[in-house]
Amino acid sequence: MKKKILVTGGAGFLGSHLCEKLLNDGHEVFCLDNFFTGQKQNVVHLLQNPFFELIRHDITMPFYIEVDEIYNLACPASPIHYQFNAIKTIKTSVMGSVHMLGLAKRIKAKILQASTSEVYGDPQIHPQTEEYWGNVNPIGPRSCYDEGKRCAESLFMNYHTQNKVKIKILRIFNTYGPKMHPNDGRVVSNFIVQAIKNQDITIYGDGSQTRSFCYVDDLINGMIDFMNTGENIIGPMNIGNPDEFTILELAQKILELTNSESRIIFEPLPQDDPMQRKPDISKLNKLIGWKPTTQLEEGLIKTINYFKNTTI
Ligand code: NAD
Ligand code: UDP
Repeated sequence: MKKKILVTGGAGFLGSHLCEKLLNDGHEVFCLDNFFTGQKQNVVHLLQNPFFELIRHDITMPFYIEVDEIYNLACPASPIHYQFNAIKTIKTSVMGSVHMLGLAKRIKAKILQASTSEVYGDPQIHPQTEEYWGNVNPIGPRSCYDEGKRCAESLFMNYHTQNKVKIKILRIFNTYGPKMHPNDGRVVSNFIVQAIKNQDITIYGDGSQTRSFCYVDDLINGMIDFMNTGENIIGPMNIGNPDEFTILELAQKILELTNSESRIIFEPLPQDDPMQRKPDISKLNKLIGWKPTTQLEEGLIKTINYFKNTTI
């Protein structure tokens, strides 16, 4: 069945891949973005499609439309961008969620929240299961993002229990791939851009902190499949690639794959930077059989090729 679908943050990294996949699946897509970190460039190839509409709007303001589903992705996701205007980041997560949930309630749409592994903060449970309540500094430099997303989860749950809104909460772990912004500041894009330009690779701390990197195509497939599960399935649900690497290993792998002459340098670790992160994805796997299929090396090669063909 052809559905009308609103994607907030649709011109961003994940949003643009999602819009493309939903269009390919035969749906009508409304891509909403304020272009803070997203770019028209990410969706320009979709503009010719009569079932695609690009809307400039900020979700901290109410928005009205008639759709069947809403994917709420609007929110800066990289630390430098979400800390640039911390108050705005909280407003986007909190007021934006209120507006989108209010819309979903009025038009009886199903709504998915792009939550994050950051709700677990600097986790003391490893790997992280959905039952873990997290270890977040509520007043630290990451709190505008972490606490904003935690409040958004609370809002989603409360709109569900109080107003019977059909919700899905998806906790996304580090995802990478083509269309990441080259100046995004996140580790995969930073290292690849530095390696291609033969600039120093900047490891924050000693590089022993870990992350688990999911390739974007795997993530988007899982996100859509989760959205399509029955109404009684609301999450929160982890999604990500459980293969865990240290940041030093990631730097070495990118150096090897790019044949770069870059040196590795070590810079101070930012405050509250989580030391380890790895999703337990057994819940989503049991529910829909989802698991990532792209190995890190394969995904990195695709991402490196993208950045080599992009002006950086
Ligand atoms: P991104 O920065 O590329 O995309 C976010 C998009 O939201 C951008 O296009 C931006 O312009 C838009 N936006 C920001 N504030 C807005 C506002 N007030 N109104 C309208 N649009 C606004 O980041 P991304 O990696 O694509 O992340 C998308 C979503 O997924 C975010 O909610 C993020 O928190 C979540 N997420 C991403 C990751 C990841 O590793 N990529 C991990 C966990 C969670
Ligand atoms: N990082 C790094 N060098 C960079 C960018 C990031 O060493 O140029 C580190 C960062 O300190 C963190 C990890 O890589 O430990 C992942 O950072 P990112 O901002 O990508 O995501 P997050 O911390 O939100 O998981």
